[in-house]
Parts: sequence; structure tokens; C-alpha cells
Amino acid sequence: MNKIRIPIIAGNWKMFNTVAESVALVKSLHYGLAWAGEAEVVVAPPYTAIYPVAEFLKDSYIKVAAQDIFFEDKGAYTSAIAGSMIKEAGADYVIVGHSERRQYFNDTDATVNKKTKAAFRHQLLPIVCVGETLDERESGKVADVVIRQVQMALDGLQQQELENVVIAYEPIWAIGTGKTASSNQAEEVHVLIRDALAKNFGETVAMKVRILYGGSVKPDNSKELLQQPNIDGALVGGASLKAADFIEIIKSAM
Ligand code: PEP
Repeated sequence: MNKIRIPIIAGNWKMFNTVAESVALVKSLHYGLAWAGEAEVVVAPPYTAIYPVAEFLKDSYIKVAAQDIFFEDKGAYTSAIAGSMIKEAGADYVIVGHSERRQYFNDTDATVNKKTKAAFRHQLLPIVCVGETLDERESGKVADVVIRQVQMALDGLQQQELENVVIAYEPIWAIGTGKTASSNQAEEVHVLIRDALAKNFGETVAMKVRILYGGSVKPDNSKELLQQPNIDGALVGGASLKAADFIEIIKSAM
């Protein structure tokens, strides 16, 4: 597929897979697909499996992400994981502000901003998630909500950071529900986000930033979504837990 920006296909495993299950899954991915063309492929195992997964993938094209990061660099913060720990364990990316983090762990626009900055401090590429609830969509607030989330997440970043940040548009009503935004609905919001990036941070940033779509991406809808000019990849939950499905989704970006 001929895309202006290098596509990213990222799998968010959420709280699934022990170390043994995680290594088995990446083995199936690595041996099941020898090459992903230009696409960047990323998997986000639970923290406990980052190191063994990254060790196995050392010479593979598949990269590793953490599912969250704490915004402080060290200290008495029981259970929190810092950027330096994630980086040393072998990850190059980190998911920030996933809607499940916002919903169950009180992540806010302000903490998402701090976490995005923490990621860059530790040479991790943040994948910043934004997206509206069904209520917000039905009351016509999609643009307000999503643009506010993007502006607040990126507030105060350096130019170089702005150009490299990755955004994932994930309508909450489509996550884990089997309901996917249509490719037109998704493209429409991706255009809104890109326009907001241009207005707030300039044309270069808007042109360079990769905006992924997430929300029930499956092998049977990924191609159409990825064909949209402003959809630069996918953040995949459920379907990333099955090697065969995730490989089909990667192929649709190649
Ligand atoms: C996600 O967890 O980011 C996600 C999009 O999940 P699913 O693909 O299962 O909807």
C-alpha cells in the first residue's frame, strides 16, 4: 500500500498473556510473517512480559511497546513503572492515555500530557490515545472532545517531539464492542485531528504525525480503513491476540 507516512500496526494485548503465552505469541508472529514491508509493527505485552518478548524480538522487525508509563522518573510510587525501566526492558514505544486507563485508572488530559513528555524524556515514542464516548458522539461533541484531548496531550512539546508523536483515534464505543467506525466516520475524525494539528502546531507537524485508528479492527475491515488517506495505521486490541488475525491486519498495511 502506498502511504505518505510509514504505517504503524500496533497490537495492544491489555491484561492478557503470561510470559510464556507472550513469547509463544511473538514467536508465531515472527515466524508467521518474515517481513512487513514498510509497515512498522509493534506489540504491547503486559509489563511483566516486555523483557522476554523484547529479547526474543531483538533481531526482528517487530518492536515492543509498554501499555502505560508513569510520569515521574523515580521515587516512592509503589507499583508505578518509569520510562527508564520500560526503555531498558527493551521497548521503543509506549501507549499513553488509552481509554481504559482514563476510565478505570483516572488518567486525565493533564496526566496524559505529563506521560507523553515522560515518554520522550526516555526516548520512547508515545502512542497517544484519544476518542469520544457514544454519548459525546450522539450529542455532536466529537470534534470538541477529540481536539481538546489532542491539544492538551501535546501541550508544551518541542517541535521535534511534536513531529514524532503518534496519535491513535479510538472511539470508545468501538473498543472491544465489535462495532467499528465506518472508514468514512474514521477518516472524518482523522481529518479533524490533522487540521487541528496544522492550526495549533503548524503544517509540518500535521503532515508528519501518524494518526492510527483503533476500535474493533479485524482482518475483514482493516484494508478499507487503512486505504483512507489520513489513516496511518491501526491500534488493535482483541484481534492482536491471535497471530493469524494480526498477521492479516499487518498484510493489509503492506
Ligand atoms: C484497543 O484496545 O485499543 C482496541 C482498539 O481494542 P479492540 O481492537 O479490541 O476494539
